[in-house]
Amino acid sequence: METRKLIIIGSGPAGFTAAIYAARANLQPVLFEGFMSGPSGGQLMTTTEVENYPGFPKGVSGPDLMADFRAQAERFGTLILTEDVESVDLSQRPFLVKGSSTQMRAEALIISTGATAKRLEIEGAGDGEFWQKGVTACAVCDGAAPIFRNRPLFVIGGGDSAVEEAIFLTKYGSRVYIVHRRDQLRASKIMAERALKHPKIEMLWNSAIEKILGDQVVRRVVVKNVVTGSLEELDAGGVFFAIGHQPNTGFLRGQLETNQTGYLVVTPGTTYTSKEGVFAAGDVQDPTYRQAITAAGSGCMAALDAERWLTNMGIE
Ligand code: NAP
Repeated sequence: METRKLIIIGSGPAGFTAAIYAARANLQPVLFEGFMSGPSGGQLMTTTEVENYPGFPKGVSGPDLMADFRAQAERFGTLILTEDVESVDLSQRPFLVKGSSTQMRAEALIISTGATAKRLEIEGAGDGEFWQKGVTACAVCDGAAPIFRNRPLFVIGGGDSAVEEAIFLTKYGSRVYIVHRRDQLRASKIMAERALKHPKIEMLWNSAIEKILGDQVVRRVVVKNVVTGSLEELDAGGVFFAIGHQPNTGFLRGQLETNQTGYLVVTPGTTYTSKEGVFAAGDVQDPTYRQAITAAGSGCMAALDAERWLTNMGIE
């Protein structure tokens, strides 16, 4: 079985940036970009215009940006495998990586498998229904789209993300409703106060969206009061899930330390995980920032950490 110096798992901004740096450092990295697990490129593949990635004053489409990341990683000699990693064995080095068709060993690993925004199975919210036609899981990515302008917008959730996204959406929507299943926000006090005081934000307590209706795009939602069971149909231009993210770590089967919500734990200020020789970058280890630019930055850090670690281990 082939042994490589470095295998990178994941193909978002973190993984491809790690690959660019590692390839330029002559580590001949292999990158598993996934296949059934989602499109190569990660979460940016499901957004339209990216306007906050530096270097693109006119904006860039998420898929175009990721195609360029990928091409740049390939240009310096990254071997990209279009398959999922099903499991890894971190019990001894070189670590074993089992892809859906390729098995390989690696002296060092970078985990950059990202996180998936949680969605709810609401009638009308699915793929082939209004998903990405008014229903999204990222207000910051999609909120500025014309379909949301001056329309009532609904954010589902009660945490800091829901509040932050609702406040962000007040720039675009005519009114923003936070639909929360309880009668109290989970968000931090300061954030909660900001939402509660905001003239354009209205709380729908003890509520859940039961159904999303529309034609080409979202037009109305049916909101259920989960205490009384009453239903109300409201005019709507968009529905935003903000109920948290799930880091993609299933294939690790508990071999790396995670925090309470499943994010990989790294030594602060570095990309070192709980296992020597295994580094983590991007959203899989970042419950806080979760931006393409921060993911790319930590991908660079992971490649530099891995390179230095390999050198210290005498693996040239
Ligand atoms: P979160 O704190 O886990 O909140 C998730 C929210 O979604 C909760 O209010 C929860 O309701 C609701 N929810 C979960 N599952 C649901 C379901 N099946 N149906 C309906 N509602 C559901 O997640 P988050 O808001 O994404 O925040 C994640 C972490 O990032 C937190 O530590 C947060 O403080 C941090 N963060 C910080 C900032 C900031 O400081 N600017 C911004 C964003 C995020 P319940 O309350 O009833 O459980």
